Amino acid sequence: MASGIVTPKYVSDFSCIGPDCEDSCCIGWNIYIDKQSYKKTMAHRELKSLAKTAMKKIKKSDDQWAIIRSDAQGACPFLDGKKLCKVHSLAGEDTLSETCKTYPRTCLVRDSDKFQSLSLSCPEAARLILFSPDAFMFDHKLSGSKITPHESPLWLSKSYDNSIELLLNEHLNWQESLLAIGLLINTADKVWGNEVDASQLDVRLEQLTLLAEKGMLQEQYKALAYADGHQVQAFASIHGMFIDEHPRRDGVRFKTINDAISALLNDDRTVDVDKINHAWNTIASPALEEHGDLFKRYILYYIYHEYFPITLNEAPQSAFRLLVLDCFMLRCYLAVIAHKNNGLSESDVILCFQVYHVVRQHKSTFIKGATAIMDKFNFSSVAGIISLLKTGG
Ligand code: SF4
Repeated sequence: MASGIVTPKYVSDFSCIGPDCEDSCCIGWNIYIDKQSYKKTMAHRELKSLAKTAMKKIKKSDDQWAIIRSDAQGACPFLDGKKLCKVHSLAGEDTLSETCKTYPRTCLVRDSDKFQSLSLSCPEAARLILFSPDAFMFDHKLSGSKITPHESPLWLSKSYDNSIELLLNEHLNWQESLLAIGLLINTADKVWGNEVDASQLDVRLEQLTLLAEKGMLQEQYKALAYADGHQVQAFASIHGMFIDEHPRRDGVRFKTINDAISALLNDDRTVDVDKINHAWNTIASPALEEHGDLFKRYILYYIYHEYFPITLNEAPQSAFRLLVLDCFMLRCYLAVIAHKNNGLSESDVILCFQVYHVVRQHKSTFIKGATAIMDKFNFSSVAGIISLLKTGG
């Protein structure tokens, strides 16, 4: 079967800004080199002497054949004085390892098509995804290759389509859209567990659309309790995990966020979520007014990029809980930076989203850790997890 390739404009517009990058992926990462790239680099006349010290053979797999030995500043030794890659400039793109060749590009195969995207851990990708006016124009064309189709289960394709529809509902803001998506995913759980037919997902969409039109979903969101204790536990646990796992926790960008959080701690060094939420309500939220669609854009990217609510053998609700948790953490990061800078610039917003996704999209332990935290603090119902988005006042 001829397969297609779907490319959002944020992907086709992307081009690495190299020396101008605020957080180069060639600094502070574990960079793995595949076998083919290792051999070609070691054999290259102008690169081989540097390659002997710059790469360490680990032979974990063909993809992880060697690892880059970073210099004292955590930078890849193949960077030249202008922060350009010598492997690329001297030996050409073909010699680059797969990671270096493709990052931050990603590609997900769904059914018989390829869906291209970018990782938000790259600042330039974050800029395009969050701010470029036509980022979400999609191009679909035949790829010229053949893929054996693996049809998505109906609960997944319908949940995906219907979630996007609820996100884009003009009557709902991003928090209310998330509540609607949570209620839809409750039905997806039942379809996933073979309790009801997949057609119920369309019935549910119709009901939720009607409720949004009548303002009833909005009322439901308003009536949800503000549970600051829950928010403290979630924020402290997830940020604590980031302090342990962020590969660039000693870097300026992570420290900027960490210091901004510290400035809002209580005298006993515990998290004061009331102060964070106050900063959101009084500084961050008004500062974001000109980018009122910021979270809707992020959630649209998320649904597309992850093929939400796909999960690995877990009920769809687990994907929904992660989505809300991510939005909650990002809102808190934006609030603390807004408090520090008394406003939010585009580069502040990029900082928060990009730094967060270095762990979120690249640490395989994140999902397990975050799920355990949500189970521990009993974020099992839609109302419970959505209460993370309430900001009091
Ligand atoms: S993080 Fe993105 S823009 Fe920066 S050097 Fe890497 S690919 Fe280029």
